[in-house]
Amino acid sequence: MGKAADKVLSLFYPHRCPVCQDAVPYGRRICPECQGKFSYIHGPVCLRCGKEITDGQEEYCYDCRTHERTFRAGISLMNYDAAARVSIQGFKYHGRREYGAYYIEEILRLYGGRIESWRADAIVPVPCHPSRLRRRGYNQAEILARELSRRTGIPEILDALRRTKKTQPQKQLDSEARRRNIESAMASDSLPGWVKTVILTDDIYTSGSTAEACTRALRRAGARNVYVVTVCIGRNS
Ligand SMILES: [Zn+2]
Ligand SMILES: [Zn+2]
Repeated sequence: MGKAADKVLSLFYPHRCPVCQDAVPYGRRICPECQGKFSYIHGPVCLRCGKEITDGQEEYCYDCRTHERTFRAGISLMNYDAAARVSIQGFKYHGRREYGAYYIEEILRLYGGRIESWRADAIVPVPCHPSRLRRRGYNQAEILARELSRRTGIPEILDALRRTKKTQPQKQLDSEARRRNIESAMASDSLPGWVKTVILTDDIYTSGSTAEACTRALRRAGARNVYVVTVCIGRNS
């Protein structure tokens, strides 16, 4: 779409601010006064998942110390606090797909060099179950994958992973049950042979069990290195 058409469209469907959800002026993605309201990740971070660690002596967070990790590393933009929660709810459930462009723009502004250094062959979104997809209309992880692909030129493979069954809401399970639950629900059966290094995208990283289950499925399908890019990351469990 051309810039003029884009501008006309923005009069009817203005972009919304990912913090306060109000319309933002054309050409902007966030209100000036909302800039800085997200809690962006800053060091020291866990060398594996990218979560902030409070104990400066440790190299890995509690979750990464106590669980086997087969993904190489993770990058996340911000802490999953109240502002992030509201933003992600809008992005996920209320059709605010444009937040995806903001998140990815910020991730690339801060971590573009690192992402480039991974030399990934493909970008793959964490899948959601088909019935959830039908109800919601889109998969937020897929929007992030598309946006990251569009800006980096790394191809996206949207159907590389699929959910074979509906998982119970993870919140109600302890970490071990959560791991088993998700691990048996993830499959990859259409990964092209040339894909050795993958960037996995998702909106939120919490215990790491979803990222790990996806990584294992991708590795069974032939991938060697998996990196994880998420918008938000929960504090340690
Ligand atoms: Zn705002
Ligand atoms: Zn960690």
